[in-house]
Amino acid sequence: MTRTDRRSFLQSSLGGIAGLASVPLLGGLEGCQQAPTRAAVAERTAPLPVQKLTDRVSLITGAPGNVVALTSTDPGVLVDSGSAELAGGVRASLAGAKVGRLINTHYHPEQTGGNALFGAAGATITAHEITREWLATDYYVPSEDRWVKALPKVAQPTATFRDKREITAGAEHIECGYLLEAHTRGDIYVFFRDSNVLAVGCVSSPERDPSLDWYAGGWIGGRADALDDLVKLANDETKIVPAYGPVITRAQLAAERDMFAYLYKRTTDLTDHGRDAKDMLDEGVMSEVAQKFNRTFKDPAKFLYDVSKGNWAHYTNFGGNIV
Ligand SMILES: [Zn+2]
Repeated sequence: MTRTDRRSFLQSSLGGIAGLASVPLLGGLEGCQQAPTRAAVAERTAPLPVQKLTDRVSLITGAPGNVVALTSTDPGVLVDSGSAELAGGVRASLAGAKVGRLINTHYHPEQTGGNALFGAAGATITAHEITREWLATDYYVPSEDRWVKALPKVAQPTATFRDKREITAGAEHIECGYLLEAHTRGDIYVFFRDSNVLAVGCVSSPERDPSLDWYAGGWIGGRADALDDLVKLANDETKIVPAYGPVITRAQLAAERDMFAYLYKRTTDLTDHGRDAKDMLDEGVMSEVAQKFNRTFKDPAKFLYDVSKGNWAHYTNFGGNIV
């Protein structure tokens, strides 16, 4: 199936499935441990490392991921808020600057754990509508067999969108855009167009094993398309900020896009022939990736498990040849 076919199918099916994204699957989960409520109080108060990317835009690292801050305006703009435990450190790194708007790239706790802190201080929280749905609902984490409680109201996004949102902050034009099923079902990029800084959340993963949250709708086809969109959005001078790891260039992002395009083709073909994650490993898919793209994964079995789960969840997007 071509990219265009895949995309149009996804878009046409989106209306029907989007509403289900935040509904945890209850079957077979009896006896799961109820996780404690996510900590709403920030525990760290010392500043985290700050790196200036441009005159207006800075990068706060170690939260535990990356947080991008536009501090040329008062109040400023933040992309992701860090984990609940480290959000106080994010706030301290802003050296007193207020946050008027917080943008979440997706719903994961390491990117939204500081929402309560900044929301209570008056920040408007922007995110994809599906990210808001996840944050407003208790949800199950299958890999850890536990439930995560919904965030309190003050921490939930209120300025949501489905396709694109333009935000102006002083002289900076900020474009937020949907990345369909790239890592979860609610990922967005945040492009500081005048500063040429592009925050992409977990959709790029230059160092860590890439994560596909199949339970939340992420899959390899969505990732391959999203990376292609991001490569087209950037130019050779764009500073691309992933959720974890160093700032990367368009060329590095393009290499990651090529790897995912290869993985998409290879693994959907195997899924289409009824093969599972172990078969993919035995077939040498990850050795091919190491050879062709000079990239090795820490836990290839887990990565392929998630790939396989996502492929089955999206089987009708590419499959049809199982006999
Ligand atoms: Zn994530």
